[in-house]
Amino acid sequence: MEYPLLTNSLVNLIVGLALLAAWRRHRDQAFLKALGGSCLALVATPPGYLWWQATQGLAAVPAGALLVAAAVGHLLLLAMGAAGLAGRPLTRRQLQWLAALLLAIYLALLPTNIQVAHGVTTVLNLAVGGAAARWLWPQRGAERLSGVLLVAIALNRLWFVFLGESGVALQASVGTVLRAALGLALLYAALRRSGDTSLRLHDQYLRMTENLHFGVIVIQDDRVPYANRAAHRIYNLPAGRHFPLPWLSRNVGPADRERALARHRAIVSGEMEQAQWEGPRSRHDGRPMYLRFAAWRIEWDGQPAEQVVVMDDTEHHDATAALLYQATHDGLTGLPNRSALLQRLGDLCSHGSPFGLLLLDVDRFKLFNQAHGPSMGDEVLCALAQVLKQSIEAPAEAMRLGADEFALLLPVPQGDAEAASLALAGHLRDRLQQPLQLPSHEFYIDVSIGLALHPHSGREPEALLRSAHAAMTEAKRTPGWSLQRAEERFERGSGASLEAEQALRTGLLNEEFLLVYQPKVDARDGSLVGFEALVRWQRPGAGLVSPAEFIPAAERTGLIGSLGALIMDQACAQIAAWQVAGAGLVPVAVNVSPLQLLDPGFPGLVARTMARHGVEARWLTIEITETAAAMHLDQARQRLGEMCALGLQVALDDFGAGVSSLNILRSLPLQTVKIDRLLIDPMPAADAVAVVRAICKLAQALNLRVVAEGVETEAQAEAARDAGCDELQGYFFSRPLAVADASHWLARQPALVGAPT
Ligand code: C2E
Ligand code: MG
Ligand code: MG
Repeated sequence: MEYPLLTNSLVNLIVGLALLAAWRRHRDQAFLKALGGSCLALVATPPGYLWWQATQGLAAVPAGALLVAAAVGHLLLLAMGAAGLAGRPLTRRQLQWLAALLLAIYLALLPTNIQVAHGVTTVLNLAVGGAAARWLWPQRGAERLSGVLLVAIALNRLWFVFLGESGVALQASVGTVLRAALGLALLYAALRRSGDTSLRLHDQYLRMTENLHFGVIVIQDDRVPYANRAAHRIYNLPAGRHFPLPWLSRNVGPADRERALARHRAIVSGEMEQAQWEGPRSRHDGRPMYLRFAAWRIEWDGQPAEQVVVMDDTEHHDATAALLYQATHDGLTGLPNRSALLQRLGDLCSHGSPFGLLLLDVDRFKLFNQAHGPSMGDEVLCALAQVLKQSIEAPAEAMRLGADEFALLLPVPQGDAEAASLALAGHLRDRLQQPLQLPSHEFYIDVSIGLALHPHSGREPEALLRSAHAAMTEAKRTPGWSLQRAEERFERGSGASLEAEQALRTGLLNEEFLLVYQPKVDARDGSLVGFEALVRWQRPGAGLVSPAEFIPAAERTGLIGSLGALIMDQACAQIAAWQVAGAGLVPVAVNVSPLQLLDPGFPGLVARTMARHGVEARWLTIEITETAAAMHLDQARQRLGEMCALGLQVALDDFGAGVSSLNILRSLPLQTVKIDRLLIDPMPAADAVAVVRAICKLAQALNLRVVAEGVETEAQAEAARDAGCDELQGYFFSRPLAVADASHWLARQPALVGAPT
């Protein structure tokens, strides 16, 4: 008897495991899990029955419990599975009732008569099987057979009910066959149902994607197993044509191709959950388009694949590009405009490499418009734009800033931006010596060019543009073609002018300014006759900064007032210190900005400063530049008059460097005129000597002393003395000196010092 029972157990085990394995692959077929579980529950019945047979009394209790658990578990799971297969799942409450009923029957009847207990539960089995068979009958073959088999299995239990012990082997043998058959029928039903589901889903997927407006492409193993109609339409692929891999599309460069392949692998492997990208592509017929993509991982035919959704954004992209073009280009010449220039300047400045900015302005352009009408003026501008474009090569760019103003931007990542810019300007000058060819006319034009260099002329776009503009305005003063370089700005180390102003203010607060003293010597015997105080900014992190770099900024920001007061205070303090030291004294000349002269309170300030330090007026000289005096002649005359009244000496600085007006010499209360280094430098050339001699003669007539500035060689010193200069100043005698060195000069010539004659 054991053999059929064990075979029954084994077959139940195999069928149960097979059904569970099938459920793992097709989770949607839940009935497989319940029916697999019911088979596994039955595995315990034959050994449980044999054990129960072999024991008596209390010892039979565990065997009985095992039998009850197996039987109850089997029937419950069978009911669940059969109901699930029929598509009428049982509720939790129904299951609870069934479990309670089964337990009650077994516990009541099993201790007294196992046959009767088995009979009663067989009735329940039959009820469950019968109901399942009825529900499954209208379904397909496998389901119908499963229903019949469930009834047959229930009926097979009657062998034991009627024959008792002698029917066990028969029941087990027939049950084995019926269970195996049921297992096969269920597996078949599950597989077919699963196939149906896949087909249905596939169908739904296709119906959904085929009608979408955006393209859907499935990529698997370097091929495209599916691309919807919209994808074909977007790429303009002829119907039936195999869809190529998107990264093999035209105008996807090698680098992008590599990136696309890496992205595809990352998505398929699950490393990347989602990806989005966009870019220009070409349609099959070569027309350009602009696409946006989104991609993620899917299962395709049970294997991982990438699903790419493609949106054709060409219209929107083109419209945006057209708007952007309009906003950044000049309508007349088609060149990029001022806002494009600012943007490019921003890019280049943040990149940090050197570049040149040339601002060009057509000389007397108004005349073209006046003489030939504005449309002729437009033609001239277009022709000039053409010349500019032809004169440059990428990455240089030509732009029109408005009216007759153009810009050339010349990035020079390696090399000399200044040399390259000058070469370009020279080339333009040569080209513009030829006339501009217009359909009906030929015109010769001149341009004035302002050149600013990054980073020397400014580090920020606005600052650079301002510098170039100032240089261009300067160039315009010269008739004909001319080029002017922007001055180096003192913001070199700091960037924006606002930042520079802040640094200047901090410098003033922290008294980072000091004076150095350059000796002036008597032209006849070389003895010390005076010092010129020259300011230096000991700027933290930047070393000693020259006044040429920060005085203009101090003037622009109005800080020159405080700076001038500080300088005057330091100079007076130094004169007082030398006086106290008793080593002798010479007059000290202090440079004064024209803006200080505009301030009516300036003479009062000088008087108070001298008084505070106990300095007599004869030891102080004021130097004002010739250009400043010329620009503000009336105010200068008044202030200088007030200072002369205080007893101060006044020197006219840089004479001959600017717009020299002899009238200035006559109309200002001056004692000294300083001839600018520009006139001294070419000496002893005869013509230079002649100029200096003429100035000396004039000064003599006006009773002015003459100082030659910037004397660098002995020959210059001799020539200046012979021409009639009274005093000499320059590197040949001494560079500007720190206080200690200046004190040595004073100490070396004690006998010679005294008030000027
Ligand atoms: P400046 O008043 O004409 O001063 C003479 C400039 O020529 C000084 O330059 C001096 O160092 C330089 N120099 C003197 N001898 C020679 C020479 O032989 N060869 C050459 N190449 N240069 C020589 P620095 O000190 O750089 O001053 C430049 C200008 O800045 C001054 O020209 C003056 O206009 C202004 N500045 C200097 N200190 C002050 C100041 O305290 N206040 C104001 N408002 N301006 C000042
Ligand atoms: Mg000076
Ligand atoms: Mg000077």
